[in-house]
Amino acid sequence: MPALLPPDRLEWVPGWGQAVGAAGYVHRPSTVEDVRGVLGLTSERGVPLVLRGAGRSYGDAAFLPEAVVLDLSRMDRILAWDPRTGEVDVEPGVTVERLWRFALGDGWWPPVVTGTMRPTLGGGLAMNVHGKNNWARGTLGEHCTGLDLMLASGEVVPVTPEADPELFHAVVGGFGQLGVIVRARLRLKRVHSGLLEVEAVSGRDLGEMLRLADEAKDRWEYVVGWIDAFPGGRRLGRGLLHFARHLEPEEDPAPARTLRTRVQDLPDTLFGILPKSVLWRLLKPWTNRPGMRTINAVKYRLGSTVGDGARYLQTLAEFSFLLDYVPGWERVYLPGGLIQHQSFVPAGAAERVFARQLEACRKAGLPSFLAVLKRHRPDPFLMGHGVDGYSLALDLPVTASNRERLWRLVRELAEPVVEAGGRFYPAKDAALPGELYRASVGEERLGRFAALKARLDPGGMLRSALAERLLGPRWWQ
Ligand SMILES: Cc1cc2nc3c(=O)[nH]c(=O)nc-3n(C[C@H](O)[C@H](O)[C@H](O)COP(=O)(O)OP(=O)(O)OC[C@H]3O[C@@H](n4cnc5c(N)ncnc54)[C@H](O)[C@@H]3O)c2cc1C
Repeated sequence: MPALLPPDRLEWVPGWGQAVGAAGYVHRPSTVEDVRGVLGLTSERGVPLVLRGAGRSYGDAAFLPEAVVLDLSRMDRILAWDPRTGEVDVEPGVTVERLWRFALGDGWWPPVVTGTMRPTLGGGLAMNVHGKNNWARGTLGEHCTGLDLMLASGEVVPVTPEADPELFHAVVGGFGQLGVIVRARLRLKRVHSGLLEVEAVSGRDLGEMLRLADEAKDRWEYVVGWIDAFPGGRRLGRGLLHFARHLEPEEDPAPARTLRTRVQDLPDTLFGILPKSVLWRLLKPWTNRPGMRTINAVKYRLGSTVGDGARYLQTLAEFSFLLDYVPGWERVYLPGGLIQHQSFVPAGAAERVFARQLEACRKAGLPSFLAVLKRHRPDPFLMGHGVDGYSLALDLPVTASNRERLWRLVRELAEPVVEAGGRFYPAKDAALPGELYRASVGEERLGRFAALKARLDPGGMLRSALAERLLGPRWWQ
């Protein structure tokens, strides 16, 4: 075994959903020089290499069987910070959590955050992540003012949206196929309080959910919906929506207090008693169809009665990182794990397509245990997934007996999306057939992406299981 690949570095590298994974030789560099060293040795030996941040992509984006896995999470230094402008210079392994904790006391907040605070900014840019404010603020890449990209050759090139728009808009959202982001500059968002005003409303069916989200998108910065994916008929697509906005200057009587990270910290216990670390074990007995049907129904009933129309204040972290409330909740899905399917559909077709998807899940006996609706706008990135429309993210548990049916179901979910001119989100994907992904992106964009790959990484060193599945082996040739 060559020195680069000692057998003790062979680790199981899963997707976050635990339904897919592969063994790889994991390297965890902590400097740009280390990254260059690994690239050099990998290239000498002709071994493929896959980039990995915090491994928070649900599916196969950050592993490849028998490849070298370059885990960038140890490169987590904040390199420069200007509290007057909110501009920050980071290494790729800085997480969303580290960034907000660092900047909040100075009155700044990341303009785009994901539903969990664990992803790295390198991984976030590579997938061009969005938040609950996608309509208002766009994607993370739209707040990046430049990055340093290490090519497969080891050369580092500065890339900015002004000087090299083609490359910038392909690297961001290019799922780690063109180079390693070793440094990024971001512009944060000024906030005057650590609190948000939140409004909760219910929607009786899918049509109402979409209409309410659309009406709210210009009045509220954040718009997110939860859908009860179990009932059909008149109640198909019923759910709850949450809208939120930052407080204006003077609205918060004690901003110095609410901007403290201690005030933002998610509680360690539930109701002050139950340690949150055990919560996933309590959820486990409910993680089956009857249990989740009940949980979804109770949530809807409460939200559509006592909770309907409620307005309240919530900390930024509480509202933004709901999914971090139950640490390790993905473990409730073990041993099979879960996959997610998130499709983006133009506004005019969303009701028809999402109704078909929810019905297809029900008919297959595979209803989504957690379904999330968001309002989106188009983005300027080459491999971007934004449309003027909505996305529906469906969490689907995997078992030994449903696995094949589930993979067939994903095809069924995806076909109407392609017909409607919609897109898919690779960060959430594990099962989409490559031809449907390619049809959604279109020949012209695929051609431009392949041309950049052929120029920057002609030997095809940077790879991933996701890229091979969606784009095909040696897709750049
Ligand atoms: C509970 C949960 C909630 C989520 N909510 C959201 C959400 O609200 N919105 C959203 O958009 N996403 C969401 N995601 C998805 C997640 O934000 C993305 O998958 C993100 O890319 C994960 O970042 P990571 O650091 O874990 O990267 P990984 O998953 O490890 O890698 C992601 C991709 O980035 C590439 N990559 C990693 N580092 C680099 C680098 N330095 N240079 C170049 N390429 C690199 C990898 O090769 C891979 O293709 C959620 C995920 C989870 C688990």
